[in-house]
Amino acid sequence: MSLAALLKARIRATGPISVADFMAECLGHPEHGYYTTRDPLGASGDFTTAPEISQMFGELIGLALAQSWLNQGAPAPFTLAELGPGRGTLMADILRATRGVPGFHAGLRLHLVETSPVLRAVQRRALDGVDLTHLDTVDALPDMPLWLVANEFFDALPIRQFVRAAGLWRERVVGLADGALAFGLAGPSAPEELATRSDVADGGLVEICPAARVAMDEIAARIAAHGGAALVIDYGDWRSLGDTLQAVQGHAPTDPLAAPGAADLTAHVDFEALALAAPGLAASALTPQGVFLERLGITQRARALADRLDGPALDAHIAAHRRLTHPDEMGNLFKVLGLVPAGAPMLPGLVS
Ligand code: SAH
Repeated sequence: MSLAALLKARIRATGPISVADFMAECLGHPEHGYYTTRDPLGASGDFTTAPEISQMFGELIGLALAQSWLNQGAPAPFTLAELGPGRGTLMADILRATRGVPGFHAGLRLHLVETSPVLRAVQRRALDGVDLTHLDTVDALPDMPLWLVANEFFDALPIRQFVRAAGLWRERVVGLADGALAFGLAGPSAPEELATRSDVADGGLVEICPAARVAMDEIAARIAAHGGAALVIDYGDWRSLGDTLQAVQGHAPTDPLAAPGAADLTAHVDFEALALAAPGLAASALTPQGVFLERLGITQRARALADRLDGPALDAHIAAHRRLTHPDEMGNLFKVLGLVPAGAPMLPGLVS
């Protein structure tokens, strides 16, 4: 039975499901889930990501994390963690760039939070020879100082959507209309997360991501207790407003309800909600990816690499630099949030 048929049977039996339940099934269903069944990244997949575009992205992030570790007194051992490491490219670049940082590799205990068995295998290959531990969830991270990076992870976590109607909130749900999956609205409800959202006018839609809150709470507890830093890179903004649920298949947008399990589903990240879930930490200003990478020296690094290239390889390198940083490409759409213990120096490339 296809995932669409399974979901329809479930809705017929027990009623409409939340957008979060729909998203969780589409992405994580043990047999039919989008991430469970494939490696979605790269030209032959459905989308590409910053670390797959250029090695410069991971190199600069590696050096920023290592500098932050030095700034906090180089505690060892410590956890180096990545959430949703995809093909392992970002971590491979981080590890290569930080080889020369005294004590960093000797002190780190590498933990990768990844649910997809397909991508776990790809990550092991990319990080061949590296001692690493795979975890299913963030709460399994060790109780130690923690330096953590998450690129395009939080956008894959299931969101709930609420519409403001006559001063009340009604949850958007997935039900059936004429036998097909269709969006609808449930009766009024009052989720605690929306108590502060009196800014939303009637008809406005707000998204909340309960799984992101749970994950941030676990991360913040470790960093507040033992030191460390979290670096979150994703598309989104400060304080979510509007319907940002989107489906992508073969590098093109598609209807989120059209082919459950076959398209990638994401939603913009509400960075304010992430910062609020880490009340014990100091949050950076939310910074565009292009600005962050420029401050870390991507132009100098790009020039150094360009010296060794010519022809099509040089053209591709120049295009990759532009794609990561230019405001019309990923430079402005993607944002960076840093979190450190209150009173600790902010991560390089970010300001408090
Ligand atoms: N960070 C990578 C990949 C982004 S794709 C990159 O930048 O290229 C999203 C990643 O998060 C994939 O590795 C996916 O399998 C993983 N993922 C999605 N939902 C997850 C969840 N609930 N728990 C753990 N990993 C998850």
